[in-house]
Amino acid sequence: MYREKLEKAKTAYTFDDFLLVPQASWVEPKDVDTKTRVTRNYEINIPILSSAMDTVTEAEMAIALAREGGLGVIHRNMSTKEQVEEIKKVKRSGDITIRDVITVDPDAPISEAYEIMKRENISGLPVVVDDKLVGIISRRDIKPIVNSKGDKKVKEVMTSDVVTVPESITPEEALNIAYENKVERLPVVKDGKLVGIITVRDILERKKYPNACRDEEGRFLVAAAVGPFDLDRAKSLDKAGADILVIDSAHAHNMRLVKYSKIMKKNIDADLVVGNIATREAAEDLISQEVDGLKVGIGPGSMCTTRIVAGVGVPQLSAIAEVSDVAAEYDIPVIADGGIRYSGDIAKAIAVGADAVMLGNLLAGTSEAPGEIVIINGRKYKQYRGMGSLGAMTGGIGAGTDRYFQNINKKSHMKHTKLVPEGVEGVVPYRGSVKEVIFQLVGGLKASMGYCGAKTIKEMKEKAKLVRITQSGIKESHPHDLLITNESPNYPTY
Ligand code: 5GP
Repeated sequence: MYREKLEKAKTAYTFDDFLLVPQASWVEPKDVDTKTRVTRNYEINIPILSSAMDTVTEAEMAIALAREGGLGVIHRNMSTKEQVEEIKKVKRSGDITIRDVITVDPDAPISEAYEIMKRENISGLPVVVDDKLVGIISRRDIKPIVNSKGDKKVKEVMTSDVVTVPESITPEEALNIAYENKVERLPVVKDGKLVGIITVRDILERKKYPNACRDEEGRFLVAAAVGPFDLDRAKSLDKAGADILVIDSAHAHNMRLVKYSKIMKKNIDADLVVGNIATREAAEDLISQEVDGLKVGIGPGSMCTTRIVAGVGVPQLSAIAEVSDVAAEYDIPVIADGGIRYSGDIAKAIAVGADAVMLGNLLAGTSEAPGEIVIINGRKYKQYRGMGSLGAMTGGIGAGTDRYFQNINKKSHMKHTKLVPEGVEGVVPYRGSVKEVIFQLVGGLKASMGYCGAKTIKEMKEKAKLVRITQSGIKESHPHDLLITNESPNYPTY
């Protein structure tokens, strides 16, 4: 019986076990379309998400990634209030309409208006009475007279004939109106009441990121992680505007979690991704609960020790293929999470069915990841730690503990000894900005799609062919028989 168990065990593979086969192709890498679906209802423009880890994704990473066309998943090793604030930061930054407008009263002295403008570093203030817009006052109007004798009132110098726009205005229309009227800022008015302000600077900023992922209102898309049973947090994140919630667990085939995901889904408007899993059965059970996306990866992560500590896991390429076979039947997107070291790994993940990949290690070294640069032996690094590492489980609010189904007694001074970590803490080389890293990763993927003759991600999933390689093949694949003298931006040497 036991011997049979051993002999019947399947062989499972990962990235280094295969290469993609070059095919006849009319596709130029520059013409490739990298748009992809991450959930039932959301598309992103490059197939890359950032991990929900406290050394990877807070608002800054999510904003930088959304600008490039990807999606950040805000980690949950913080209070619900703090996580809500991170989501709001992302939403505010991609919105051309500023909604928490600073205003002034018509009867206020102009010196007060001037002080506000100086303090907030803005060049104009809408003048309102009971939320009704009655005028606008700019720094230019008052600067020459603000120190003159007898402080005038705002209403004496403001412009009452204000050019306003409705909420439904597009960025292009707003820009035209601003140029025609030679104004810098356009108050947004609904039923006579001021609801926001649009500035020319913000519209021009937006034009810099044509590939950005945005919601229907033009704000950046953002996702957020939630614990498997934390309905209160899920509701708050949903209300704060998260487009996608990601149930973040080391074992999403825990049947209590599977059942609870349906309750979570019913209570939120956001799409729900559930992970991580690595088998066909897990995919089937979760899809039966009507989840909107699946996340695959048990133990492939660069700082993960689950496969060593628990002896559990499935090599990532096989896990992706197995889950994707089931997901394809139901048209549910699959995110391949963990183990990606090079752009070629992204291409291989897509070739075996993934719609997108999630990156921890490759993004943790960017300037937009939380944490400071550290210098070791003259080289720059950034901290990177597993969410199941001791540091993450005992730091922050210890969100890693329920990810790994562990309880922590916060009061106990012995708390370290009560935990069984499934990750380690370390550093990764500093890699510059998210923009630079993404440029290389997407460039590599596009090259791969050119070789495989695939113009879209969908075509890549269908068309790409693989060849099984040996240890000698891997050796031949990496640079060999030379001393590397210049480091390449997409092939770091440590
Ligand atoms: P990487 O891109 O570094 O190879 O993998 C990142 C992924 O590893 C994350 O998105 C997450 O799914 C997983 N992960 C994060 N922290 C831990 C941990 O402490 N232990 C394990 N087993 N996986 C982790």
